[in-house]
Amino acid sequence: MDRPAPPLGVVSAMPGVVWPALPGGPGAALLGILFQLGQTEWWPRARIEHAQRRQLAALLAHARAEVPFYRDRLPPALPDPSDGPAWEDAWRAIPVLTRAEIQAADADEAMLAAALPPGHGEYREIFTSGSAGRPVRAVRSQLWELVWSAFTLRDHLWHRRDLTGTMAVIRESGAGKAAWPEGDAQQGWGFSSAGLFETGRLVSLNVTTPVDRQAEWLARQDPDYLLSHPSILARLAVATREAGLRLPRLRQVIAIAETLRPEHRAAIEAAWGVKVVDVYSTREAGYLALQCPDHPHYHVQSEGLRVEVVDEAGRPCAPGQTGRVLVTPLHNLAMPLIRYDIGDAAEVGPPCPCGRGLPVLTRILGRRQNMLRLPGGGRRWPLLSSGDIAGLVAAAPALRQYRIVQKGLDHLHVMLALARPATAAEEAAVAAWARAKFGAGFRVTVEGFDELPRSAAGKSEDFVCEVPDGS
Ligand SMILES: [Zn+2]
Repeated sequence: MDRPAPPLGVVSAMPGVVWPALPGGPGAALLGILFQLGQTEWWPRARIEHAQRRQLAALLAHARAEVPFYRDRLPPALPDPSDGPAWEDAWRAIPVLTRAEIQAADADEAMLAAALPPGHGEYREIFTSGSAGRPVRAVRSQLWELVWSAFTLRDHLWHRRDLTGTMAVIRESGAGKAAWPEGDAQQGWGFSSAGLFETGRLVSLNVTTPVDRQAEWLARQDPDYLLSHPSILARLAVATREAGLRLPRLRQVIAIAETLRPEHRAAIEAAWGVKVVDVYSTREAGYLALQCPDHPHYHVQSEGLRVEVVDEAGRPCAPGQTGRVLVTPLHNLAMPLIRYDIGDAAEVGPPCPCGRGLPVLTRILGRRQNMLRLPGGGRRWPLLSSGDIAGLVAAAPALRQYRIVQKGLDHLHVMLALARPATAAEEAAVAAWARAKFGAGFRVTVEGFDELPRSAAGKSEDFVCEVPDGS
């Protein structure tokens, strides 16, 4: 890109030394990782894979020795990393790890390492919202958190953010936290940059705030950067425009936590005239892929984790194919996840013209629980084309937002946020539209709302399957 990167201010921790700065312990370690990431992203893919296999050997040796769950699950050793085909065959013989297995094994702590190597710090636990409301515990080491910070900073550097600017974040979902009208404010962008770079203000607002109040708060904060879920960003873009509010300083928007649909990207960019940068991460595995600095697709973060995209038979997908995403974080020795099926699907892309050797994903399709279950067995993606959406708008002209919930193998429930109540004829037209799109065998119910309810995690999905597996 043509714009020069903004200058970076490094914080010095050494008395009597201001410049060049000497950061303290964690900051120095972060800088050490970042320096290497600046080199490895340009390595040829084969060299990246070879280096990754060496780290995976260390991870597997630790898991076999220290984690009860893996004692009999992993091979005694993998072939030499230089022998790519033999190594890949042996790797693919390791069973895929499911969420249900983690939940079962974690009940007696069998997923946790008995001990961590020196320097990896303490165990830190978080919980993620599992499918069917069953939470999954993930335990990470402090060292893994340091690596996570390095990838946060790589994203800032790739997208040339001025770290001294104001970052506005709308993602807090805790009741009563970061409440309108003030929200929260702090000096510094937080944990991941603390101790290394000088950063500006961070302001935060609760995701459950009504959209007109979000817009009012945002205009008052006048941020340089805005980070939130794509569905919130798209509605905010419309709300600020309708209210005549301007964001004169805004330079970039960062989308997290949900699939960024092309129409959301286009709506946000059109309303605010700035680039949208998408981030693909999960709480249990960290950053899977970051948007290329020069293209709208994603680069797998191979220095932090191994990402496999496989078809239903477990074979690696070729460019253009879509498959299940399996992840193996390379540096979390506290609770190793090896070939973990995180429940997402992604489309593999060809090598990127930017020259980086990191593998490419062209689309992230989100949770498999967002796939349509077919009455006769099997699943498919219920993706709506722009023609499908135009058909829905024609059926319900007052439509502001929609969500389709599969309640049973043959039952679809269409939830609509409407500017005014739908007429009986409009509801019938929506039901006919749904049967034409998804299949005549479905029974369709339609329900109108002023505003669609969000999930507990603040997420908004446009298709949700509530049919349990195995039914
Ligand atoms: Zn690229």
